[in-house]
Amino acid sequence: MTEGKREKKYKKLRTAADLERLMTRHYTIGKFVGRFKPVAWVTSGAPVEILRAMDIFPIYPENYGALCGARLAAVPLAQVAEAQGYSPDLCSYARSNLGSVFDAKNAPLGGLPRPHLLICCNNICSTVVKWYEALAAHYNIPLFVLDTPFLHDGLADHTVHYVLAQFREMVAFLEHHTRRTLHLRKLSETIELANRAIVLWGEIRALCKAKPSPLNAPDLFVNMAPIVVLRGTKEAVGFYKKLKAEVEERVECGISALPEERYRLLWDNIAIWHHLFRFYRYFVDYGACFVVDTYTGAWSTQIQWNEPLESLARAYTTVFLNQSLEYRTELTIRLLNEYEVDGFVMHCNRSCKPYSLGQYAIKAELTARTGLPGFILESDMCDYRAHADEPTRTRIQTFMEALTTRVGRG
Ligand code: SF4
Repeated sequence: MTEGKREKKYKKLRTAADLERLMTRHYTIGKFVGRFKPVAWVTSGAPVEILRAMDIFPIYPENYGALCGARLAAVPLAQVAEAQGYSPDLCSYARSNLGSVFDAKNAPLGGLPRPHLLICCNNICSTVVKWYEALAAHYNIPLFVLDTPFLHDGLADHTVHYVLAQFREMVAFLEHHTRRTLHLRKLSETIELANRAIVLWGEIRALCKAKPSPLNAPDLFVNMAPIVVLRGTKEAVGFYKKLKAEVEERVECGISALPEERYRLLWDNIAIWHHLFRFYRYFVDYGACFVVDTYTGAWSTQIQWNEPLESLARAYTTVFLNQSLEYRTELTIRLLNEYEVDGFVMHCNRSCKPYSLGQYAIKAELTARTGLPGFILESDMCDYRAHADEPTRTRIQTFMEALTTRVGRG
């Protein structure tokens, strides 16, 4: 697809240039910052506010995995890891990151900067534990694993106490290995910045309730990077203020993300990073806009003010992937109703088992309770070897034609 065609299907945001500058700056600083301060590789669900408050530079291998996926570099890197014995069934973020560690010269950006320590939280999955153990063994550096019990039935006090005790251990671990001290005033300031960005990001997502929606899922996927990677910084707050102003302007002027919005859909699971724009264009061709998704909302949980460490313990234990199917079902039904969608698409992501297991049960429940049609599409977020384009297009075509008949806006 040429750039010209892409422009017609996707209205580029003015803030795209700001985003690019912000992320380039982050990765460029990361190249050199290790000479001046400690660098920690962290999982996407790690309580990064603590690290930021201690002036420890966080790097997110999962964000790098998405970048590798978007640049079609994830498969060659995954093959490097597979040649070392890592199973092709493992998460493609893990395989591409490990491949970039083993073969940095052939990796985007020349690989990630070498870490001094590793912080892994299993609130998103168990894969990260083994992945980070492999990194710790490779680099021979300290690893802290934060264990957040899966919430089958809400958050109990004893779970909060259990996690809070580990947060204190994590602070002691960081102070010991970096010879830095965590100051509660600095932590509170960082949480305040994180919350401001979280609120702005939530407001931007909520603006997509407008008809037509000012953003489509690829816009949200691309713009979520700072809420993950730059959480707790002034830069993230500044960026989301500017993005929100632009999205508000689109709503006020009735500017749609699509040339014409005919159908409103919900997306479940991680983006198809490989061929991101090409893949979602198959829906755009039918005038179908993904006005909401369950993925980019995963970083929208506000951190309540009380005691800072306890607030963080509560927020990071209750993340989306650490909760029951019932919780995920209720949340998705709420989104289907609030965003007034016509149907939903669930990405059964070969890489991400915790996100994908249970989708058939959730789908049946969503349709039974809302009457909305949906379908499950099998692919992988980064490993395009697990994506069959023609059968996928045929399934999309069948779904969209059925939706057209049902809703009657063809
Ligand atoms: S398995 Fe899923 S949650 Fe775990 S690292 Fe991979 S994509 Fe993230």
